[in-house]
Amino acid sequence: MLDQIKNLSQKLNPRLLEIHRHLHANPELSGQEYQTSAYVAGVLSSCGIRVREAVGKTGVIGELSGLGKDKRMIALRADMDALPIEERTNLGYSSSKPGVMHACGHDVHTTVGLGVAMILSQLPEAVLGKVRFLFQPAEEIAQGARWMIKDGAMQGVDAILSLHVFPSIPARSIGIRYGTLTAATDDLEIIIQGESGHGARPHEAVDAIWIAAQVITSLQQAISRTQNPLRPLVLSIGQINGGRAPNIIADQVKMTGTVRSIHPETHANLPDWIESIVSNVSRTYQASYQIKYTRGVPSVQNDSFLTQILEDASKESWGRENVKILTEPSLGAEDFSLYLEHAPGSMLRLGVGSENKQNYPLHHPQFHVDEHCIMTGVVPIAYAIYKYFLNSSSPNN
Ligand SMILES: [Zn+2]
Ligand SMILES: [Zn+2]
Repeated sequence: MLDQIKNLSQKLNPRLLEIHRHLHANPELSGQEYQTSAYVAGVLSSCGIRVREAVGKTGVIGELSGLGKDKRMIALRADMDALPIEERTNLGYSSSKPGVMHACGHDVHTTVGLGVAMILSQLPEAVLGKVRFLFQPAEEIAQGARWMIKDGAMQGVDAILSLHVFPSIPARSIGIRYGTLTAATDDLEIIIQGESGHGARPHEAVDAIWIAAQVITSLQQAISRTQNPLRPLVLSIGQINGGRAPNIIADQVKMTGTVRSIHPETHANLPDWIESIVSNVSRTYQASYQIKYTRGVPSVQNDSFLTQILEDASKESWGRENVKILTEPSLGAEDFSLYLEHAPGSMLRLGVGSENKQNYPLHHPQFHVDEHCIMTGVVPIAYAIYKYFLNSSSPNN
């Protein structure tokens, strides 16, 4: 079966490169993936795959039944949205849209998802149950998975796979991670309310800027003194606004930030922990405060059974030396975690690094991939789907 998958992917490679370049040149922002989803739906339909459009606003679902009698369904999720970044790669297929760029590799994810769909649609004997392809919008704003799930994307799904590009791994390699892959990510907004006054007479005012500075410093110090150092926690204030003029003491400061954690207990306690620090500092200096703590996405926990299937499929496809077992999670966010509330799943890291060109991180205006990564991803994922059905451990089988 693996040889058949490899041969087909070899044949399809020129078409997949064409798809990748089309998607890369025509990026669309989160929630606005109209042309992308129409294009994806067109490719899926041309393979004889049943297509549902406008799932989760601009998402697309394709469904494939093969020759087998297995009742289980496995899903493959690929995200489609781009970022508000002006591309500076000088690629021949650079973004044709000013200020919008596929700088997170979602064009690669969509291409790989389509590649797997094309291969499996031509190999019905590899599909022993059902396969659902989820092309998701709006991952970058952590909304798309929610929208898709609300529209029934996970109904009847027994397992789910996904992938994300990884520039620090070369394009012929794959990264596999057991357990925690990404962090839980929440949004934080703090308003410090003081009292205005003359810059020359601070004792008659309550200086919101100075108190905000104390709050930020206290939060960072408290991480090091009151949080378990073996349980990572990052709190970054990314925006701060306040004040009217150089000689007026500011009465209000608003700051917003992001909070990343991995351990469920740390995550659960974050709102109370932050409030206790903000309230202590504010009370000490007679300010009042408001905190808005918004839960974002939970952490991605890769299922060990499915991760093992991905690891085996990757090693058989490209050799043990090209599969790296990742020893550390990332503090990045990934709304793939929301699907995992409905079925076990696993996400692999797809190497995209070039050997002879400088590599840039995700979300960088010069981020680019070595297009060999498409083949690197398509083969083991298609093979892993076949292997999933071969394994009869699921009670639904
Ligand atoms: Zn991203
Ligand atoms: Zn991404």
